[in-house]
Amino acid sequence: MWTLGRRSCRRALWGAFGGSGKCAAGPGPATCGTPATGFPAKTYLGPVRRLADWASFLRGDSNSSAFKTDSGRSGGKGAGLFGRPELQQPSDWQRVAAATEARCDELLADILKCTPSDGVRVVQLMDDMSDELCRAYDAAECCRNVHVDPEWRHAAERVCVKLGSYISRVNAHTGMYQRLSEALAAYEAGAKALSNHTAPELRPWQMGGWCRESVLVAQRLKQDMEQAGIHLPAAQRARVAELAAANGHFAAAFNAALTDTRKVGRASIGLGRWVPLDPSSVAGVMAGEPHESVRKTVYTAAGRSPACNRELLDRMVAVRAEMAQLQGYPSYAALRTRGNSLAGTPAAVVGFLTRLAADVRPLAEQELKVLAQLKAFDSRDVTFATSPASTSLAAWDVEYYAARARQALVTSAPGALLRYTALPSVLAGVRTLLRAVFRIELVLGPVAPGEGWAPGVLRAEARHPDLGPLGTVYLDLGDRPGKYPSAVTFPITCGRQLPGSDVEAALAANARRQHGGAGGGAGGPRQLPVMALLASATGRCPVTGVPALTYRELRVLLHELGHCVHNLLSRTKYQHLWGTRCAQDLVEVPSHLFEYWATDPLTMGLLARDRSNTQPDTGAAAGPGGGGEPLPPALLEELIAGRAATAALELQQQLALSLADQWLFGENPPKPTEAAGSPSSWTSSDVWRKAMEVASSVPYVPGTSPELRVGHLTIYGGSYYGYVYARCLAAQLWRASGLADAPLDPGAGELLRERLLGPGGAVEPLELLTGFAEAAAAGEGAGSPVGSAAARQARGRQLRLAMQRQRDQHHHQQSRGVQEAVPGGGLLQSLDGGYAPRSDYYLETLKTGIAA
Ligand SMILES: [Zn+2]
Repeated sequence: MWTLGRRSCRRALWGAFGGSGKCAAGPGPATCGTPATGFPAKTYLGPVRRLADWASFLRGDSNSSAFKTDSGRSGGKGAGLFGRPELQQPSDWQRVAAATEARCDELLADILKCTPSDGVRVVQLMDDMSDELCRAYDAAECCRNVHVDPEWRHAAERVCVKLGSYISRVNAHTGMYQRLSEALAAYEAGAKALSNHTAPELRPWQMGGWCRESVLVAQRLKQDMEQAGIHLPAAQRARVAELAAANGHFAAAFNAALTDTRKVGRASIGLGRWVPLDPSSVAGVMAGEPHESVRKTVYTAAGRSPACNRELLDRMVAVRAEMAQLQGYPSYAALRTRGNSLAGTPAAVVGFLTRLAADVRPLAEQELKVLAQLKAFDSRDVTFATSPASTSLAAWDVEYYAARARQALVTSAPGALLRYTALPSVLAGVRTLLRAVFRIELVLGPVAPGEGWAPGVLRAEARHPDLGPLGTVYLDLGDRPGKYPSAVTFPITCGRQLPGSDVEAALAANARRQHGGAGGGAGGPRQLPVMALLASATGRCPVTGVPALTYRELRVLLHELGHCVHNLLSRTKYQHLWGTRCAQDLVEVPSHLFEYWATDPLTMGLLARDRSNTQPDTGAAAGPGGGGEPLPPALLEELIAGRAATAALELQQQLALSLADQWLFGENPPKPTEAAGSPSSWTSSDVWRKAMEVASSVPYVPGTSPELRVGHLTIYGGSYYGYVYARCLAAQLWRASGLADAPLDPGAGELLRERLLGPGGAVEPLELLTGFAEAAAAGEGAGSPVGSAAARQARGRQLRLAMQRQRDQHHHQQSRGVQEAVPGGGLLQSLDGGYAPRSDYYLETLKTGIAA
């Protein structure tokens, strides 16, 4: 029932044979512990004033005066890992796990004592329990992935296993499910009595304390437990548990095989040379090997490896199909899209992907033609000018010539950008950006002894003028051997309103209103979220030698910041719906939106700035943007053009992967390979071939099975499309919020906070986007005044009425079988029983090269 751990959100790079994914952001649950009592006093470190210290700190100099760090072994009593005093040494994990289980046992006992007359109390208790578990489990999950000390990692891993089995037990607790179902049924009966005007039959406890969010949490919790089969007869329930365990086993074995050198094997490339077929070696050959014969050999060999994954994938497909069927769904993809998604149905997803594939094909073919020209030039093919079709581009050529095309467009010296993207300078720019747009003040500093997990980890504490303290983000941005392989955001503690504070919250909000204060800070004491953002700077500033970001790394950093800011600004009552724990097809929207700042000359002038000559003590007064020299616009144009060179081809890869993911876990799943042979049967390779035919301009290579190397299929299973949804939605929100015209406008930031980030998962996706579009159309967004609480509240009332009218109209139309033409204020299209973003604006950004 509880979505524990990192919600893995990795976007595949360049398709099946590409390297590791781009990002993994995570919602997880979490929390309690340290109440939101504000931050201890800390030295404010201006963006420039301490640059000299930052530089030596980020270089790893141990004698840097401003930043002393500690990787986690402090002999005496320190701050504790992640700032938790109870985590002083690795062996403390066991105590934490035991204490967590003891508290959860107590909460479980309280839940079981609840009767329907306790009303909403059971929801709060279950959220508390989820929070306890996630607070321990998510922190352990983060520690086992990031800590440089193996002893810490192993201790955390043992705790993940221990708590994981506890969680499985409570998830299958029928008594708890019954209490939840009874409470929800009592509320629903009450709501029905009210709408039927039979309220005299209503008992006070039926409605008391329930709010929209608690109803949503109750429905989600119930639905999650049902997805594990808890409502089924005993025999079926046991079968679902068996299938879920098998699914986990096959998925783990599939992924393990991808990095197992014996299983992936190697390819002979002549003269006694061999290439190992692990994902990163194969990606290296595809992008950098000039000899076509070598690329072809490696591509075709990799396309049959690891052979063991064929059976694992077949079994995973079969197990998931049976799980879905036992729970009454036509497919696993349908199970994943029901409830908490914008899409609603797999048919809407497939319809959207297929249309977008058709729309992007002409663009991709143009790009392919340019790559074919490069190949013709290489092979001295003089016929190309008169007969371009004679030089055909094969699957193993695409990445190589894509890299060549980018090189041809980015003619500045390779280190030219790195002068402007030294980490301290970029972080100074990030602070300015967040302050300007979201009014978030980031206070950056070193971690206390024992608080971090690797040398160089920084702590950023966020505060908002109306909302107060927002939470903590640990930044781990250095490059080191053995570091977690992709950029990621780990939740360590989730945000939520602290229980029992409803009355205090109401009183506080009242007091604020009476004193004319801003209304944005509604809500009582909150549990502040804590996250870890991992990204890497692999370059070096040529002037100072400090770590610096490539253009791709800068975009990745902005992407992860998007996840963090979503969580920092989320103000849900329950942790179950906090921030990135929102709908699966909206979770990547803020992060993609943040990537647009890397395409704008104004914001890039802030983020990428050569501050190496800035005097350490002149501070921010040195000039606009904090002194120094901004990135030259011509260099940004080059970088954008380089990225745009194959943007449509890259989108095709994402579309093919998303379609294969839908069809593998759709209503007509492929048959196991050994059962294939009859004319009607089709295998997972047929699925891949069909996805390539529909979505890709690069021909499928017969005999290859790229799906055997796509680890994403194990994680997503019917939900990978969320990335493509996010691209289209982010492109529209960039424009609708006004950021496209005024990328530093606080009015746009306020609109995004109130209408997209703040609600987290506490508002259904369709309503969330409708509300956003309505507010933007009503003049909120860039250029609108910020801070006038009364004006905002009046606008809010009007908008709620308008939204209610639209919802009523929508339901009315649906009940008459009429599809609404333009739902979501024009952001969406309605398709086959569900919703998808409109993609026209995204296609426009693709042409101009600024697409995220
Ligand atoms: Zn992401």
